[in-house]
Amino acid sequence: MKILSGTETSKEIKEELKKEVLNLKSMNIEPTLAVILVGDDPASAVYVRNKQRTCTELGFQSIERKMPEDTKQEDLLAVVKELNDDPAVNGILCQVPLPPQCNEQEVIQAILPEKDVDCFHPYNYGLLAAGIPKFMPCTPFGVLQILKRYGYETKGKNVVIIGRSNIVGRPLSILMSLKEWNATVTVCHSQTAKLAEVCRSADILISAIGIPNFVQAHYVKKGAVVIDVGINRVHDPSHPKGSRLVGDVDFEAIKDLAEAATPVPGGVGPMTIAMLMYNTINAARFQEGLEKFEL
Ligand code: NAD
Repeated sequence: MKILSGTETSKEIKEELKKEVLNLKSMNIEPTLAVILVGDDPASAVYVRNKQRTCTELGFQSIERKMPEDTKQEDLLAVVKELNDDPAVNGILCQVPLPPQCNEQEVIQAILPEKDVDCFHPYNYGLLAAGIPKFMPCTPFGVLQILKRYGYETKGKNVVIIGRSNIVGRPLSILMSLKEWNATVTVCHSQTAKLAEVCRSADILISAIGIPNFVQAHYVKKGAVVIDVGINRVHDPSHPKGSRLVGDVDFEAIKDLAEAATPVPGGVGPMTIAMLMYNTINAARFQEGLEKFEL
């Protein structure tokens, strides 16, 4: 089974993005990403640190607005407004999950669509559904880039996606069914009947559910390409940290069946951050009246 490395693919993409950042800097444009982090969730802090590190690596400016766990919704919205109003800020994202007193949807909708580099705002979601996406949903576009760069065509293929969330399954199903990718897409979820049977019809099987070892051998057709979006922390006393990250797919169980698969970690995860940087570059370009930079 071939390993589809998101670590390697994202490196390749980041080299392309670095060149584009230099190009923008030669026009006195410096892409700037603002990240809002509310509270002390350790996983969120790691994600935010990784995003900032990648900004530095690519030559971006990054701004972090750290707010306490007991932040009121109105204070969070005031920070969003301040960043919306700052012409030096091209992209804004608010790390989720938010503490319970904050309303995630309201925050997403308060971010100006032209600065919504996560592509979560209903306006950007609507453009995607209309087949004219401006920003690309980060994790779904990361999946498409892995497939493209390893030479796996989606045109005419049966693609089965397990999971219908707003950030992975559903936007991925929309993208893949667009003319540019031309896949025949089936979206499965917790209420799908005969799930394993449906999955066995897939030329490309994508799992985004968040359950370790869910996808077993009987879900996979011989020769299928398997993309594991899941990131799940499992207890492992043999590991120095006492736990480790695994995907949704039982890698061992499918290795003699699948033609290729993404590992976890080192698969879709690093692609998501690279696509966030890609969107931030395009936010900077759009705000200067320039065309979309294509990957
Ligand atoms: P979610 O919890 O919002 O959605 C899970 C989906 O799985 C739902 O649509 C649900 O219907 C479906 N589901 C749950 N149990 C099922 C079952 N038994 N059978 C069939 N379908 C079932 O999750 P999400 O935000 O889309 O994230 C999914 C996974 O992907 C998580 O592990 C998350 O950590 C990971 N993730 C990874 C990245 C990345 O960059 N690689 C990005 C986002 C999410």
